[in-house]
Amino acid sequence: MLGIQVFNYPDKYVFFKEECVEFFNDWLTKELEIDPTEITYVEDVWAGGGNLGPSVEAFVGGLEIGNMVFMQYKTFHDGSYEELDIKVIDVGIGLERIPWAVNGSATSYEDTFRHVLKYLRGKLDVVVDEKIWEKFGPYSCLLDVDEAENIDKTWEFIAEKVGVTVQELKKAILMAKDLYIVADHTRTAMMIIQDGSLPSNNGGGSNLRNVIRRVFAIMKNNGWWDKLGLKGFLEIFEHHKLDLEEIYGKFKPYPSFEKIIEVEFERWSTTDQDQKAKLDRQLKKSKQLTINDWIVAVTSYGIPADTVAKLSGQPIPNNLYYEIAQQQERITKPAEVILYNTAHLKETDLIFYDQAHSSDVSFEAKVLDVFANLTQNNVRNIVILDRSVFYPTSGGQQNDVGTLKIDGEEYSVVNVEKVGKVVLHILDRPLPNPDNAHYIGQTVSGHIDEERRRQLRNHHTGTHIVFAACRAVLGPHVWQNGAKKTIEQAHLDITHYDSLTKQQEIEIENKANRIILESRQIKKFYMDKAQAELEYGFRLYQGGVVPGNQLRVVHIEDTDVEACCGTHCDNTSEVGWIKILRTTKIQDGIVRLYYVAGERTIQRLNTEKEILNNLQKLWSIPQDLIVETADKFFKESKKYSNECARQEQKILNLQVKYVLDNPEVKSAYVISDHDEATIYFSFLNNHAQSLKDANKGIIFVGEKYLYGLFGNKSALDLEGVNDIYPYFLLTTVI
Ligand SMILES: [Zn+2]
Repeated sequence: MLGIQVFNYPDKYVFFKEECVEFFNDWLTKELEIDPTEITYVEDVWAGGGNLGPSVEAFVGGLEIGNMVFMQYKTFHDGSYEELDIKVIDVGIGLERIPWAVNGSATSYEDTFRHVLKYLRGKLDVVVDEKIWEKFGPYSCLLDVDEAENIDKTWEFIAEKVGVTVQELKKAILMAKDLYIVADHTRTAMMIIQDGSLPSNNGGGSNLRNVIRRVFAIMKNNGWWDKLGLKGFLEIFEHHKLDLEEIYGKFKPYPSFEKIIEVEFERWSTTDQDQKAKLDRQLKKSKQLTINDWIVAVTSYGIPADTVAKLSGQPIPNNLYYEIAQQQERITKPAEVILYNTAHLKETDLIFYDQAHSSDVSFEAKVLDVFANLTQNNVRNIVILDRSVFYPTSGGQQNDVGTLKIDGEEYSVVNVEKVGKVVLHILDRPLPNPDNAHYIGQTVSGHIDEERRRQLRNHHTGTHIVFAACRAVLGPHVWQNGAKKTIEQAHLDITHYDSLTKQQEIEIENKANRIILESRQIKKFYMDKAQAELEYGFRLYQGGVVPGNQLRVVHIEDTDVEACCGTHCDNTSEVGWIKILRTTKIQDGIVRLYYVAGERTIQRLNTEKEILNNLQKLWSIPQDLIVETADKFFKESKKYSNECARQEQKILNLQVKYVLDNPEVKSAYVISDHDEATIYFSFLNNHAQSLKDANKGIIFVGEKYLYGLFGNKSALDLEGVNDIYPYFLLTTVI
């Protein structure tokens, strides 16, 4: 779609309806050389978003080429309207319709996917009967499933108009339709993936997965995998690039692209059976799938809607995608409740952002206000200052702690939050004077815990470095999905199509530590948002889109550039050392990396070393034999525990045998030394029939349980139990 917007300000008129239609007409007739008698304009009224105005649609030979919307009036609830100060034109033009109209091809696909269709036709032997398509084209809109009352009758009607049988028509149309779907969907998938999305079971990623899987299924139904193979399939994308090159220029290499498609193909081929089993279970429960069953099948099981339709023999509900979108909206996190009104207060000057004060840990400031704490019975322990070095919790980074000296008295600052543009310092105890005026305007001094700040700064800067390392090792599809930096450790969530292998973890850690060793400069500066986007692109927004016209840009030399408001080192070397602790796939398409940086890394390594030293001492062996020894111990312990279980079974069998073989014994009570009765559950079942046949019983009495089996009711002689375990009878059996 091509878009053109024109904004007419009261003091700066550009152009409006008359000129716009004239320009459009000039473009069609002079630039595209379309015969004017083929062009039709339809004027209508357009209304939306509280605006109203005329709209003009342009058609060439019955094909809508574009639509011009003129926002001229503001509308009110009572139906009245008034002229807008700023009048806006919004023109939309179907990009792919232009060559279609100019060339007069049978379908727009033929013009849009020239290279792709040529390639696919050559490989798949699909012949498009252009003559049938030309006649079919004008009637094709009748096959809209939402509007056609009887699809079969509609096919018959069209076949008659085209002058062929229904079978001939379907043969000519349906195979080509599948070919066009493959061309269209693969291009969609290619663009979405190169824009940074990955197939997954939720959000936008699920749309991508549905699109790709629909293509896979169509390929399978037509037997096209045999002709093309995965390698041939991947080649389609190279032909898309040729088709798009004239508009986009050369495509930049995207190293992980093929791997993403390969993994998705692998999952689609192997999870197919599993998904079918899940759907079968669902169908057994309810023969007719409800809309909720459909949503679960598509979003949770990840089965494409057309596969569900095929397996269940039920049509895709018309409202399915609408309901899925509604559900996604419902699970979107509600906005956090803001407890304090800070609108009347001056923005807190965050002095740690100032290069000259970025390493300050002490400061003086004036008190602007004191708040009662709404979450702590209204005790007055919240202080607002005109300036502060305290970092409030934000961007996944924990807050600073420290002290504030007020009236000569030292208070601990236990929490720091930001509400609006104001920082709230929460003290460990309330201020004693009930009169706020006593504090407002007073100069106080503050000090932050320097060690904690350093650790948080290292974890935060380390997060930028780990992210850059992930992108370098795994590929450009990696985006930040979330992060948390505490003093103990940090974690980063990235988009990735698979779990990380141990080898990849090592590579990422090595890359991160190389960035640290290379002492790269970290610059922090404010920049105009539009300028920053132009220069660095959307990779700026790894931590989410930032509101306002100014961005605080954090630029690590040759490594990473992000809009970020955390606390950062001035050079990567200050981070010291990064150690990846573990990684885990937290959801489909998202991997979490846990790591430590700076002093925490040393502590972590020291702890591990201590464990090794202790093992060495305990087992009296050199360090290089620890793994071997542990493996030996583990195997032996497993062997002995298996042996124990076997002996246990033997003893139990003998006990049952004693009861069964001894004519004087009707039932037996065995005091058990097991903590739980679990061992008897499966064991006793094996003897149930023989105990029943012999009319006998056996009961095991543990400290916390009584578990047994009796051939008949009379065998349950509770008096017997009472003799050996009176306490038990009193508390549990009665
Ligand atoms: Zn940052």
